[in-house]
Amino acid sequence: MDDGLSYWQLGWDQTRARRGNDYVFCDDRVTLATDFECGNGVGPRREDDGYALDLEPEPGEHHFSGKSYYFCCGLRNRTGRPLTTSLRLYGNMNGQFAEGTRSVVLRVGDGWDHLPPERIRPRIGVDAVELMLDLPVDETPLFVSNFYWHPYSDLEAWVQRCRDHPLARLAVLGKSVEGRLLYRLDIGREDSDAPVVIVSQTPQPSEGIGTHVCRALVDYLVGDDPTAVAIRAAQRIIVIPTTNPDGTVLGLGVSHPSGRFPFFEGYLAANSDAAALVEMRAVWEVLVAERPWWFIEWHGNNWARRPGHMLLRYRPELLANAGRRNLWQRIDDVLLALPDTYHGNWTGHQEGIYQSTIGFQAVTRLGTIAHMVKHHDKHGLDDIRRHAVECLRRGIQSLQR
Ligand SMILES: [Zn+2]
Repeated sequence: MDDGLSYWQLGWDQTRARRGNDYVFCDDRVTLATDFECGNGVGPRREDDGYALDLEPEPGEHHFSGKSYYFCCGLRNRTGRPLTTSLRLYGNMNGQFAEGTRSVVLRVGDGWDHLPPERIRPRIGVDAVELMLDLPVDETPLFVSNFYWHPYSDLEAWVQRCRDHPLARLAVLGKSVEGRLLYRLDIGREDSDAPVVIVSQTPQPSEGIGTHVCRALVDYLVGDDPTAVAIRAAQRIIVIPTTNPDGTVLGLGVSHPSGRFPFFEGYLAANSDAAALVEMRAVWEVLVAERPWWFIEWHGNNWARRPGHMLLRYRPELLANAGRRNLWQRIDDVLLALPDTYHGNWTGHQEGIYQSTIGFQAVTRLGTIAHMVKHHDKHGLDDIRRHAVECLRRGIQSLQR
């Protein structure tokens, strides 16, 4: 018997492991497990010459419920010799999972890489992909996912290290429904007149790149780069690195553990509706209290049909103030000039699908400029971190022009 990967990092949350579900398989060659924080996949098994897993359906009754597309599993080589094996992942997106999965993120230790695309084979009829994987010779696990996942427990450990930093002020903005803490890190001017920028991770848990990006922005903003020093002197930047920690721990794609889809529920928080999720209410309260001039929500995406980093845009015309509209146009121009960055879609009062988000509420109720940057997980993690820093830098520099 094998104990899976739930303790691969000692601090990881054990909720999945304790559920007693079918998350671990092992034979004489391989351990295949999803019992760890952020894991997704059930029924690990031998299939033909390799192994297989079924991706877990999203809970609840929203438009992604019952569908599955996010995977996150770990494999350990038990043979002591080089081993290449196939792994079939069965999704449930009417063929879109097989069709759209052309990039796979690998993690060994703290290092991230991608599986060469020729090692990803779609099986359209069953909405599966088959991966050819080289497992490390020692027992180091190879983690495989279509997203840059980020355990909440690792974020908490990082937040605790930030606590003592002289340039970052840590505060708790609320608790999740299961009692996990939601954090904010403030960097720069403390006075109430300071212009404020707020950046946050999307509440879609599989899009963990948002948490990686928030961390990268904090690292940048407390550093010695002259632009970072100038930003700190002129602004207050508030970083909210996790907005759905319970979903993250459980390895959900877009859902809250209650089965709801928080990303599309920003309007409930803005309406002070009793049905609003506590996490969304906590984020909205920060927006109302701080009245940022700019709000960026960081998303991930991995579909092959998307060419790269996508800018999901609210219409600048939604703002009444002409000066701020002009600033918004300048920011749009500098963001779209960044490498691998593309216009995604527009949302206005009568167009697009994002009127219910917290960003749209910020635009229409608080007069905030808002963007959703959807980083493509096919790019290297360092490239994405640099891209996010450039978004923030150049956007803020647009103020001075
Ligand atoms: Zn998203």
